[in-house]
Amino acid sequence: MDDCIFCKIVKGEIPSKKIYEDDKVYAFYDINPEAPVHFLVIPKDHIASANDLNDNNADIVSHIFKIINKLAVELNISDKGYRIVNNCGEDGGQTVKHIHFHVLGGRCLHWPPG
Ligand code: AMP
Ligand code: ZN
Repeated sequence: MDDCIFCKIVKGEIPSKKIYEDDKVYAFYDINPEAPVHFLVIPKDHIASANDLNDNNADIVSHIFKIINKLAVELNISDKGYRIVNNCGEDGGQTVKHIHFHVLGGRCLHWPPG
């Protein structure tokens, strides 16, 4: 999508601190970290939100979770644990309309969220 900042990050049109990429996904550090480790994993194809997952595209979620597992080990947050967050829509607090999974770790995280 032309006006989507995460599509632009995937295409290299906006700089990012890349952690990982393959043919289907891209992982990069959040520009405004809420924890010592805070990165985002996104599909390269534009999917607006969890509301837009369906039988044709939902396999990407399984792939993203496998990549999160691998990156959590590499970034040393696997043993102590971490949180995976997907914000969906207005009430969910989604600000970027390209589905993304936050991974937060490196400190004890509170629950419930505000
Ligand atoms: P959400 O509120 O769930 O839509 O999360 C969007 C996230 O994207 C926020 O945590 C922002 O800090 C992050 N973000 C926005 N623009 C960029 C960018 N150019 N590079 C890295 N992270 C970004
Ligand atoms: Zn997009």
